[in-house]
Amino acid sequence: MSTGSNVDITCECGHHFKGWLWQSANVTASPDLRGKILRGQLNLVTCPSCDRRFYVEIPFLYHDMAAREWIWVYPLQQEQQGGDAREKVQEMWEQLKSSLPDDARRVFEEEYRVLVLFGMDALVYYLQGKQLKESESLSN
Ligand SMILES: [Zn+2]
Repeated sequence: MSTGSNVDITCECGHHFKGWLWQSANVTASPDLRGKILRGQLNLVTCPSCDRRFYVEIPFLYHDMAAREWIWVYPLQQEQQGGDAREKVQEMWEQLKSSLPDDARRVFEEEYRVLVLFGMDALVYYLQGKQLKESESLSN
C-alpha cells in the first residue's frame, strides 16, 4: 500500500501552503510512483506564491514486493545521526515481521533486502545502478 497526505509546507519566501507528500510507495502496486522517483518528481512541490520548486524531505518508505526491497529514505540532513535512523528502521522491520503470518514472515526474513538511505537522490542512484546491472546481465 502507498500512503500520502496533504501536509503544511513553508516556502523560503515565507508562503505557507498545503502540498501532497508521499510517505510510502509500494512500487509493485503503484509502478507509476517508481517512475516519479526516477524522474526526481516525488515529493517535489511548487510554491503557488513564488513558483519555486523544491523537495520536501520526510522519512519515506520504498517497498518493492517483486524485487524484495524494503528501503527507508531519510532526509539528507539526518545522515549525521545515521545510527538513530538505522535503529528505528530495524525496530519497524521487527514490528512488521512480527505482524505477519509465519510463511510471509519467512519470505521477509530470508529474501528481503532492508536498506536505509539518506536523501531521495541516494534512492535514485541505487535504482539506476540496479537498472544498469540488469541491462548488463541481459546483454551477456
Ligand atoms: Zn515561495
